[in-house]
Amino acid sequence: MKSVKGTHFIQQEHPELLVDESALSGGSCQSAAWPENTTEATEYMKECFEDRVPLTISGARTGIAGGAVPIGGAVLSTDLLKGILPTSRENIIRVQAGETLDSVQEYCKTEKPCLFYPPDPTETTASIGGTVATDASGADSYKFGSTRKWIDRLKILLPSGTALTIKRGNYQFSSGKLRHPSLGLITLPKLEKPQPVKNAAGFHIAPNMDLIDLFIGSEGKLGLILEADLVLARKPYAIASFAVFCNENQFWKLRSDLINASLSLRELEAMADPSLSFLSRNTGKTFPGRGNWVLLTSIDVASEEELDTALEALEMLLEEHGISPDNTWGGFDEIERKRLKEFRHLLPETVNRVISGFSLKNSRIHKISTDTAVPPEQLMEYYETMRSVLENSEVEHVVFGHSGQGHLHANLIPNDNSQLEKAELAVEQIAAEAVKLGGTVSAEHGTGKLKVPLLRLMYSQKELDDMGLLEKSISSC
Ligand SMILES: Cc1cc2nc3c(=O)[nH]c(=O)nc-3n(C[C@H](O)[C@H](O)[C@H](O)COP(=O)(O)OP(=O)(O)OC[C@H]3O[C@@H](n4cnc5c(N)ncnc54)[C@H](O)[C@@H]3O)c2cc1C
Repeated sequence: MKSVKGTHFIQQEHPELLVDESALSGGSCQSAAWPENTTEATEYMKECFEDRVPLTISGARTGIAGGAVPIGGAVLSTDLLKGILPTSRENIIRVQAGETLDSVQEYCKTEKPCLFYPPDPTETTASIGGTVATDASGADSYKFGSTRKWIDRLKILLPSGTALTIKRGNYQFSSGKLRHPSLGLITLPKLEKPQPVKNAAGFHIAPNMDLIDLFIGSEGKLGLILEADLVLARKPYAIASFAVFCNENQFWKLRSDLINASLSLRELEAMADPSLSFLSRNTGKTFPGRGNWVLLTSIDVASEEELDTALEALEMLLEEHGISPDNTWGGFDEIERKRLKEFRHLLPETVNRVISGFSLKNSRIHKISTDTAVPPEQLMEYYETMRSVLENSEVEHVVFGHSGQGHLHANLIPNDNSQLEKAELAVEQIAAEAVKLGGTVSAEHGTGKLKVPLLRLMYSQKELDDMGLLEKSISSC
């Protein structure tokens, strides 16, 4: 098995292991290994467990909460855990942790041309293990839900190195309790309020849930996800995708009408002011119209007839809200959809690039972002608070994301230490408001290291302690 030792050596030869896309600084580790199969992974995990060395699991490190950044201890990289195989069921494939979302989609294109894997968390270089560990979602989760909905079976190595296979449907909690042959009695923490629908803060807890759902979204705390059986969905006849460049008033009206229209929407995304001007300034690109908001949507259609109906419905809505067709980009072929995805991806990518420039000059600087969500019907009210907190912080920022699910990300771009503090304060205020409205402090990126302090806004000390006990009891099996 490929492995290395020595803090200084790893810093010099494998600096990539010490960072993720959060640009969280201060990562270090004393050893690292790249297992290629279950036997090697088991051996390394057992060694770390017996020597009481804290282990960080590292996927593709596209995470933006710092979860894969080691703070001492050892790193297990899943980079070499590769392989995609069919199963006896046409719509299920078996994928090793280190395969990327890109490679899964490529596999589907060639081997299962009528099917696709719905979770699409924007960054397609993410590993399958990482997306399961964070229960990633993305634009299309408006229709398809988060990763957990598409996982049928997991092969896991518990922190002690003990192997476990969990198939959905085989082990179900009843009123928060479950007796499992290897894990013994598992008791879920009792939460004062149920977790919001879209939530990645803390373990997934619901009194009568499936055991597999405890491991999905557990961010490496309950062990290594080695292999996942992914459920595929049937491709629609066509997908019509549009970016509508408009003003704020038009955005909210169009969003509300689209939610209520009888269209099969895949996504309902937003780029709020001042995202477009930030993009223009930093990429040199120009955009149609005079508005400073963008609504992005995709509609699944099952036939030519449905496609015509969807296009007519959208045209009528644009006309009703005074939006010229010249101020839209869109179409219904793969090329157009790819162009819009790239446009959508360009914003977080550009933020990361600008931040990386600042962090070269000051290593404390990293992106400060929110991953908060509120019930979708509260989004407009929530956005007002978000805007005023952001403006008061006087830190450069953009706001974008999954408006259909009440989930807008604010990305703050501090350029010195004093702005860093202001940005951190703004994030805390925005997160507190989300919780007040019945939402979450982290809807899709997980808690990682950066969001840990926000958990106390959402959970009581008792709930957090009980989550800690749950982790301890599973880690000792
Ligand atoms: C430009 C950009 C856009 C993004 N957009 C989205 C988005 O729309 N939606 C979204 O959900 N995310 C988004 N992300 C975040 C990121 O892509 C996801 O969190 C992704 O799921 C992380 O996968 P990874 O392989 O990079 O995991 P890593 O970053 O390597 O790890 C993430 C966490 O999972 C744990 N982990 C990794 N692999 C395993 C494993 N095999 N077993 C157990 N634990 C493991 C790590 O320890 C860590 O805690 C975006 C990131 C970028 C850079």
